[in-house]
Amino acid sequence: MKTIGLIGGMSWESTVTYYRIINETVKEKLGGLHSAKILMYSVDFEEIENCQSSGNWARSAEILSDAAHRLETAGADFIVICTNTMHKVAPEVQASVSVPLLHIAAVTARRLDEAGVPTVGLLGTRYTMTQEFYVDVLREAGISVLIPDENDIRIVNNIIFDELCVGIIREESKMHLLRMIGDLRRRGAKGIILGCTELGLLIRQADLDLPVFDTAVIHAEEAALEALRWRE
Ligand code: GLU
Repeated sequence: MKTIGLIGGMSWESTVTYYRIINETVKEKLGGLHSAKILMYSVDFEEIENCQSSGNWARSAEILSDAAHRLETAGADFIVICTNTMHKVAPEVQASVSVPLLHIAAVTARRLDEAGVPTVGLLGTRYTMTQEFYVDVLREAGISVLIPDENDIRIVNNIIFDELCVGIIREESKMHLLRMIGDLRRRGAKGIILGCTELGLLIRQADLDLPVFDTAVIHAEEAALEALRWRE
């Protein structure tokens, strides 16, 4: 099988999900004692968040490109950036290596298409919801994207950075997100993208009767399937 190169640590709480789902998917496909071949470069998230909040995306592109280059040198066959937000610098990271990058929004768009969901509500960080780098990938795949209003963007962003990225799970925050999802549904959303890799720590499909697209799970499953593609 191919060796997967994970750029993790953004936050490490969600990188745990990637590691588990990738290995579970390989086990399910191959059986026995099979597990995934994984290399990981886990960053210091404080440095990355400082770049985000100061708008220094060039510096974060350098950090992630360096990580990708190290993974390629160590033998990774493809690269997975384990966060939605940092796909802001996916073009720079891709340009720094000769192996492919598995884009989180591209694989999510494919799942939405397969599920026949034309209009989706997107929850994620402020950057993911309001900047083009993410939403454009979905729109180019023909999907209409709805996001919360300014006040709710602030609330969900705070839940992500102040709670989920530091391992805090609060029922009250879950209620906020469920209320936001209800609003998006009333505006026409036929599905919800958990467009932040930590949101699945708080919201699950069982909480909703609307289809949920958890990007951490989708991205990890697709990484495992990509790793097995040579065998097919
Ligand atoms: N893991 C989150 C995401 O998927 C947020 C952390 C980050 O800013 O990278 O966007």
